Amino acid sequence: MRIEHDIKLGFKDVMIRPKRSTLKSRSQVTLEREFNFLNSNSNWKGVPIMAANMDTVGTFEMALELSQHKLFTAIHKHYSIEEWNKFLSEAPDGLEDYIAISTGTGKEDALKLKAVFKSNPKLKFICIDVANGYSEHFAEFVNQTRNQYPDKVIIAGNVVTGEMVEQLILSGADIVKVGIGPGSVCTTRVKTGVGYPQLSAIIECADAAHGLGGQIISDGGCTTPGDVAKAFGAGADFVMLGGMFAGHTESGGELVLRHGEQYKQFYGMSSSTAMDKYVGGVAEYRASEGKTVEVPYKGDVKDTLQDILGGLRSTCTYVGAQRLKELTKRTTFIRVAEQENQVYNS
Ligand code: 5GP
Repeated sequence: MRIEHDIKLGFKDVMIRPKRSTLKSRSQVTLEREFNFLNSNSNWKGVPIMAANMDTVGTFEMALELSQHKLFTAIHKHYSIEEWNKFLSEAPDGLEDYIAISTGTGKEDALKLKAVFKSNPKLKFICIDVANGYSEHFAEFVNQTRNQYPDKVIIAGNVVTGEMVEQLILSGADIVKVGIGPGSVCTTRVKTGVGYPQLSAIIECADAAHGLGGQIISDGGCTTPGDVAKAFGAGADFVMLGGMFAGHTESGGELVLRHGEQYKQFYGMSSSTAMDKYVGGVAEYRASEGKTVEVPYKGDVKDTLQDILGGLRSTCTYVGAQRLKELTKRTTFIRVAEQENQVYNS
């Protein structure tokens, strides 16, 4: 046994220190970024915020709306080949720049991926997603997928340490997804004791990825627009959101009425709800590592989006970053023992 003594930080442990700036208004800030992806040798331009590949978040409906604002959606992996074909046959031009098809690492997953690409060769992004990106089998799957699809953009995760980010990029990933345990409906830390505070994970993983010319996605743990700003400030190239995009018209799941209020169901992809729905229950050898909750219905996602993007623009003006790209360079985090004043929070 060993102990690492330096403290690892989460979003709640820091604030961003304001800096003198010549920016007059939030409207001067541009949130669009442009990336060249290392292994697929391709290029992307947009606002680097993503909806998570959960069936109550990363839906076709979400993608249609977010893509209009140049945001990205990692579509969940439970749509059938027929559903994909139908959706893409009616999809607007250019949507393929703003969606990824998600996959696990099983044989069936690989076959489905192949079938969807066969009928839809324009699709560009693959999101290879497992809860634990540390297994050798995972890196091998990334490598095989890279060999099979040399010019597709491959997102792979999740991991939380620099050495694994490097290994995945060397195995063929363009973008590595970072986060173990911070998610709003995640119980991994409770069930296993494993995890890594998200802000430190971003700082360390971004350093590793950028050293090789790759990118990272900060996945999980953002509960406010301020957290999204902190994730970018820490060095995330993309920020992925589950809970903040859940509960909207475009999110999957039924609207339910409780005591006169509307709610939408939201659950982890490893929760017993998801496992009952897709694999006929929780297998005997495992525990569910996700929660099922009902979140108050939040209306159309575009209003939430405005709140997030407005907050982010404001962060940029506080530190003098005219472009989101400059935010990390302009960020000084201060460690804190308080966050917002909650006196009027009910
Ligand atoms: P949020 O933005 O809600 O805090 O986090 C979203 C992320 O939580 C997802 O992108 C995914 O990485 C993670 N996640 C989703 N479902 C589960 C689950 O059932 N268990 C765990 N451990 N993580 C989950």
